[in-house]
Amino acid sequence: MKWDISDSLEEYQIHRWASDFLSINQEGDLCIHPLGDLKSTPLSIMKIVNEVRSKKVKLPVVLRFHDLLHTQVKKCNDYFFKTIEQSGFQGSYFGVYPIKVNQLREVVEEIVDAGKAYNYGLEAGSKAELLSILAYNDNPKALSILNGYKDKEYLKLACLGKKLGRNIVIVVEKPGELDLALEVMQEMQVECDLGIRAKLNTESSGPWKDSSGDKAKFGLSFHEIYNCIEKLKSHHKEHLFKLLHFHVGSQIPDIRSIKECLLEGARLYAELKKLGLPIEYFDAGGGVGINYGGLKSTTGSSTNYDLKDYVSDVVYILKDVCDQAQVAHPHIVNEAGRVIAAKHSCVVTQVFADDEMEDKRIEIEITQDTHHLVKNMAELENDLSLSNYLDVYYDALMIKQESIHAFKLGVLSLKEKAYLETSFQYICERILMMTKNLKYVPQEIKELETELTANRFVNLSIFQSAPDTWAINQMLPVLPLEGHHKKPDYYCRLADITCDSDGKFKEFPGPSGPRPYLPLHGKKEIIGIFLTGAYQDVMGDMHNLFGRLNEVHIFVDENDPDQYYIEEIIPGNRCADVLKIMQYNPKEMCAKIKKTVDCRIKSGDIPSRKGVELTDFYEKMIYSYTYLNID
Ligand SMILES: *Cc1c(COP(=O)(O)O)cnc(C)c1O
Repeated sequence: MKWDISDSLEEYQIHRWASDFLSINQEGDLCIHPLGDLKSTPLSIMKIVNEVRSKKVKLPVVLRFHDLLHTQVKKCNDYFFKTIEQSGFQGSYFGVYPIKVNQLREVVEEIVDAGKAYNYGLEAGSKAELLSILAYNDNPKALSILNGYKDKEYLKLACLGKKLGRNIVIVVEKPGELDLALEVMQEMQVECDLGIRAKLNTESSGPWKDSSGDKAKFGLSFHEIYNCIEKLKSHHKEHLFKLLHFHVGSQIPDIRSIKECLLEGARLYAELKKLGLPIEYFDAGGGVGINYGGLKSTTGSSTNYDLKDYVSDVVYILKDVCDQAQVAHPHIVNEAGRVIAAKHSCVVTQVFADDEMEDKRIEIEITQDTHHLVKNMAELENDLSLSNYLDVYYDALMIKQESIHAFKLGVLSLKEKAYLETSFQYICERILMMTKNLKYVPQEIKELETELTANRFVNLSIFQSAPDTWAINQMLPVLPLEGHHKKPDYYCRLADITCDSDGKFKEFPGPSGPRPYLPLHGKKEIIGIFLTGAYQDVMGDMHNLFGRLNEVHIFVDENDPDQYYIEEIIPGNRCADVLKIMQYNPKEMCAKIKKTVDCRIKSGDIPSRKGVELTDFYEKMIYSYTYLNID
């Protein structure tokens, strides 16, 4: 069958989860469009990787396309401003980027820069994040929204921000915070605007659906909001209540639950306005999903809507509710983070085979004393044909299971057990071959194909680079960077290089939904893991002491012959860096090794020259990259 690049787009579902930023060129290279539409400048990712490797930078690397951050900020703002204009909505839009999604300084700077023209702000959820946004959100018109649990120090920092002229809103997340905020503002002699986070009754959907409803960790129930208003009034501070906030969870798959939550939130806003409160901002939180699985449905890490649909729902639902209640239209705020950051980075690394020993079948001589399980299996092998393959399969499966028992009882030797393993494998492979072109193949035989796919390894740690695939079974698209003009002929499962059995990719987007294996063009290939820019980049840990990755920052430059330039390469962690975090002292470690080697030299166990070589090698390794050196 002929294969062309459109088949590859379908095979990996690229046109579904990356419809505006990935394509394949005539040479079969995967290309990224950092300006966010397929008509704009395409950059071959493999070409960039080759340049990076020519500078002696080792894989795995994170490629960061700053233009894609720019693009997403622009898209989100443009959608809002356009929809507001078309609908006749009276308020404006003041979005904020929640920096917990990716707090890397360069990412935050890029987003602030892209958002300048729109007065796009930042959101913090902790003291360290607040320190960051105080320093970087210097546009006095853009909002600085302060969520998360707060102590006195946090609130003092907020007041400091107000004194610097920032547009600060302190969002009260639990009732007690109001007292503390009023106290600190009094002490600091400054007034900050206040917001209240509501705990909506409407249940959201998706992995974080418990962020709304009765079980939610954050937010004030309606009676708590009522009490807060009373308290504000008693302190003559109700003029500070400027923002109503709710956030009903991240990666919401279903637009219907977004609509329901918006409706409840909008109704709450209208009621609060009717009480005469001076609320100016309606903050719909984050939660806009990314279509990781590409399915246009609510399953398989997918979403049944896109950013444009979301924006339109926010504006029109809010407008309708306000008009019906005859209250003023507020300014719209949202805190979508994932949809801003997810696309801008990918991880590039090698897939490699366990340089397997040739997988030889174990031969066995059948004699009178041979165990009957072995004899029976040998007979099945002989009898296998197209007319009895299903019976043979089930009999072989039974023998395989019985052999476990027999081995434990001591009636089966290691060689016999080994024979049964390879013989079962052989029978399965032959069944697959003979049924390949049949019209009807039973489900259990079809599944054999997946069972028999080989394990391949990928030079990275899931726990560092793709933690959500482990933590919440989030699917991330993985695919080769080149060769897309050829049919992939090699199916494999993908495991990482940690010593953790959980360190593997369980699912990949495929033409008929998620599948457990990845099609490749050979045993070794360079692949990209995409949509890692939100959360994955910054939530990873150092399981097995695999550290942060080498990072490459890339910008589009239409005047450059290659249409891009590498602005910066940030080296990832060396072994010494991750050891230091765990309280080791690399210098001391080297000294310890040297001392031991010196002793061995003295006692004549190691020649002096060899000893120096060993010490040098240890030292070199302690300052090397934590990942496999297999380039
Ligand atoms: C995490 C969080 C966000 C961002 O959510 P996304 O799903 O990334 O859009 C926004 N607001 C608050 C309060 C959050 O906790």
